Amino acid sequence: MLHSLAPPHGGEDNGAVFQGVREKDENLRIVLALGRELENRGIPVYYTRTTDVFQTPFEKAQIANQTGADFFLSIHRNSGVNPGEYSGVESLVYEKSGPALELAENINGALGEIGFKEIGVFAEPEIAVLRRTEMPAVLAEIGFINSEEDNRILEENFDEIVKSLADAVEGTISEEQIQAQAVRTYRVQVGTFREKNRASQLVERVKAEGFPVILDADQGIYRIQVGSYQELENAVTMERLLRRRGFSTLITD
Ligand SMILES: [Zn+2]
Repeated sequence: MLHSLAPPHGGEDNGAVFQGVREKDENLRIVLALGRELENRGIPVYYTRTTDVFQTPFEKAQIANQTGADFFLSIHRNSGVNPGEYSGVESLVYEKSGPALELAENINGALGEIGFKEIGVFAEPEIAVLRRTEMPAVLAEIGFINSEEDNRILEENFDEIVKSLADAVEGTISEEQIQAQAVRTYRVQVGTFREKNRASQLVERVKAEGFPVILDADQGIYRIQVGSYQELENAVTMERLLRRRGFSTLITD
């Protein structure tokens, strides 16, 4: 499972600036620390930039697409019109569904526990890095750069924040893997036919022996299968029973 990290802004684009602190530097500092933490946990990371260079959001999306990463995460610091007016973390996604929403909620929740106000997750389909990326993408705003409260939380808990972001990423990845595995089931196949009559005859024979038989038709092929198991072991047990009754078998997933 690969992860693409995109520090926003860079080069001539400073992002938000407050009291001499430039957002582009803040973003890169957080991203490099997070990347190191993820790599230590065995999660490979691609960066759209690791130095102070300018890229358009479209270029960032293109770089990510070329890596084939499974997630895209862009880390910003937010900025209010007036200093101190707003504070808290928010995450933006293309649409509020699927793995991107899950990652966004995990990030907000993790940072909320550290003490940031949780503003929420919002759908922003017009943002280029969300629209142009081919993988689930999240743009996370790690507090407001012109909120003294947010800056204090960030400085006092920097290492913990990096670990929490990594936990959010790692948690989302393992949740996705568990879901992918749950969908995978094993069946014991006792025959395939192009003719429906012959398939039906075998279905009747299997049924007569008392097995839970399924007739699966796909693109003109009839597959006769028995059971549906998440554990390979259980499919093997069923296969043994079927063979004992004289059926020829094959385990499929
Ligand atoms: Zn920004």
